[in-house]
Amino acid sequence: MYQKGELGSAFKWLGKKYLGNYSLDVDAEATKREIRKRLFSEVNEILSTAAQTSLPVDVVAVARLRKAEVKLLKLSSCKSLLLPRNGGFMIKVDSDLPLFKERVAIAHELGHTFFYDLSLDPPQRVYSYKGSKYWEEHGFAFEIAREILLPTAIFEKLVRSSYQHASLRALRELSKKCEVSYDILRLKLVNDLKLWDCVIFRSEVKGEEVRTKRRDISKGQSYRNLRIPQLMCSETKGFGELCNAILSVMEKKTVENDVLVQKEKYGLQVALLPPSSALTLLQKA
Ligand SMILES: [Zn+2]
Repeated sequence: MYQKGELGSAFKWLGKKYLGNYSLDVDAEATKREIRKRLFSEVNEILSTAAQTSLPVDVVAVARLRKAEVKLLKLSSCKSLLLPRNGGFMIKVDSDLPLFKERVAIAHELGHTFFYDLSLDPPQRVYSYKGSKYWEEHGFAFEIAREILLPTAIFEKLVRSSYQHASLRALRELSKKCEVSYDILRLKLVNDLKLWDCVIFRSEVKGEEVRTKRRDISKGQSYRNLRIPQLMCSETKGFGELCNAILSVMEKKTVENDVLVQKEKYGLQVALLPPSSALTLLQKA
């Protein structure tokens, strides 16, 4: 991992691609913003060439412009794969994935194509990484996937006009409208565009315990200091009420009430994601 403020190798490579000879010393955060702006503007040019101006985005039409053919088949070791071949790419996607996750997987693999030279046949990888640096490219592939499926301009307009207030109901409607998973929506709404200021997280409920991975938590700007424990039980100090509410969703399917979290009052919504996951939204009451 690179330090905040410092640029990782994928970032540096993208910087060279989009900004040419730029200086790293000026302001790393501003440079990152500029690189993302150029990258997403390239994504949006492709979307407009593919005539994608409304939601849901036709991800296969976008794939065609990236010279990629999508094939659904049983995959055992992963959910999707990008394979360069003569004429472009083959994207293999596990046929067991539900539709919305399948769309995210295709868009994610398309994100990886941005690290290839498509003018060569077969396309050649132009960014080479070492070991753990793969995860940096992988992270970018997810950011590109979010821009493909939820293009900022179109998505932001929709949210500002009809879904300004954060709620699980709004999240469900947006998921249907955009044909994407809750995960990608929460990241776009809370992390990328900061349109919703709240906390959204997905947890596994096991017996009397609630387990939450760090990567499954999105926190808005006003919630930076709220640390959701990775493991909660009714005994967890400051989080007992929240934990019990999440546990109760296994029977009730949905929960909506106020809870005290570390002595502060929050509005809470929880929904069961069958069979044993819970989606939680917290907002200061
Ligand atoms: Zn990846």
